[in-house]
Amino acid sequence: MDCVFCKIVSKKIKANVVHETENVVIIKDVNPQAPAHLLAIPKKHYSTILDCKDGALLAELFTAATHAAKSAGIDKSGFRMVVNTNDEGGQTVFHLHMHILGGRPLGGRMG
Ligand code: AMP
Ligand code: ZN
Repeated sequence: MDCVFCKIVSKKIKANVVHETENVVIIKDVNPQAPAHLLAIPKKHYSTILDCKDGALLAELFTAATHAAKSAGIDKSGFRMVVNTNDEGGQTVFHLHMHILGGRPLGGRMG
């Protein structure tokens, strides 16, 4: 399957990996929208959050993302976790991932 995040998970293309668990990898976003911009990516391919029924994996995704936020030093100042879904949700890579954003005030607007 021609999926950029599957290629990152299988190390066919390089990424800046900051943390890894059994089922999740966390990388730096190549086009950061904030001083800290990480992506928590399940190793298994799910196109969107709608396709993943694995609650244990979703718990691991949140836990790994929280760990990464602490490691990036944005836990006390604050951060945001975002899962863009389908076209109007702004999803551009159709392999489930969670953005972790922080390092500046993110503003009150959600969209
Ligand atoms: P979304 O728009 O929610 O699907 O987010 C996709 C994100 O993946 C964007 O923020 C991109 O900058 C990021 N991205 C795309 N390709 C790569 C890559 N090879 N390495 C790191 N981040 C990437
Ligand atoms: Zn994939």
